[in-house]
Amino acid sequence: MSDARTAEPRSRVVVLIVAAGKGVRAGGGLPKQYRSVAGLPILRRSVALFLEHRDVTQVRVVISEDHRAHYDAALSGMESNRLGAPIVGGLERQDSVRLGLETLNQEAVSSGTPSAELVLIHDAARPFLPPEMVDRVLDALTTGPAALPVLPVIDTLKRESGGTSSETVPRAGLVRAQTPQGFWFKGILEAHRRAAEHALAVTDDAEIAERAGLSVSLVAGSEDAMKITTEDDFDRAERLFARRLETRVGTGFDVHRLGPGSGVILGGVTIPHDQALQGHSDADVALHAITDAILGAIGDGDIGAHFPPTDPKWKGASSDRFLADAVRRVSDRGGVIRHLDLTILCEHPKIGPHRDALRASIAAICGLTVDRVSVKATTTERLGFTGRGEGIAAQAAATVALPAARL
Ligand code: MG
Repeated sequence: MSDARTAEPRSRVVVLIVAAGKGVRAGGGLPKQYRSVAGLPILRRSVALFLEHRDVTQVRVVISEDHRAHYDAALSGMESNRLGAPIVGGLERQDSVRLGLETLNQEAVSSGTPSAELVLIHDAARPFLPPEMVDRVLDALTTGPAALPVLPVIDTLKRESGGTSSETVPRAGLVRAQTPQGFWFKGILEAHRRAAEHALAVTDDAEIAERAGLSVSLVAGSEDAMKITTEDDFDRAERLFARRLETRVGTGFDVHRLGPGSGVILGGVTIPHDQALQGHSDADVALHAITDAILGAIGDGDIGAHFPPTDPKWKGASSDRFLADAVRRVSDRGGVIRHLDLTILCEHPKIGPHRDALRASIAAICGLTVDRVSVKATTTERLGFTGRGEGIAAQAAATVALPAARL
């Protein structure tokens, strides 16, 4: 790919994601930034989006003190040395941003390292902005102190009064403001400090910049960068996300030998039997087939490549960790497991009485609802190695939705 920018690294770009809002829908529940869209928390999607951008040096999230557990849960397992510790925000959005900027500044001073040169301030509730929008904001900051992504106002604007329209508001010269809004770090820090001193209440950071006399350049926003606020927005976001996914199906197959013992482990469930499955790990042939099906769907090798049977570390290992690792690989790609379908091939033990336990166990390991997990069993009419009771075979199919951009 030819790109002039690759030759010239950006300045130090820090992203502040503002997620300190307490907004919960009527009836309680999670604050919206911690709710999921298409299987992943909105905040996690927003963070991932910036971590994937090559020009971003660091991502920090400003959270409410009360939300630490939500934050940890939403971002669990995300590994990046560019994701810094969360910063505790304030009562209003404006306070949260200022505290975020002050924290970045203090950290730079106390560690003797240069502070951010550019800062992008982003609403956590906009998880689907296209990366090109970040490029446009950063490009505008090469020539000016502040950049704001905007969209045109298409609909005719009316002033409403007591349920009737009282006036048509001319829309010429009006635009809709989005985020991320970009700034030269020192300029916006200074502007926020001044706004706090004068107790100015504003609705976004561009307004802070405007009031400080900074020139705010406009760049094109995107409808995809919609802010998820209402229940309708959640539905719209689900549909938007679904359009961007590509469906992949992977298959897996595994066999383990039966030998001396008093039970087999299938799907993480111990089933009493007069034999046991033999293998380097716990020989859970069902979980091995499912793990390979998922790895197949994302084109990421197989279970033996990630957990070599030659490695003594995996001797006797419980196979749920292999499956959990494959599940993590899917979510690391921004994907979602839609369905798992398992068939166990054996004469004995009878699987039917344990089917529900297997479904529940597999669903729990994968973080899926039970209706997305199917468990079937068949004999092979006493034919072949399974028919003779020498071993148990399992085959599985995994249906996985992956972001099309990653394919
Ligand atoms: Mg195996």
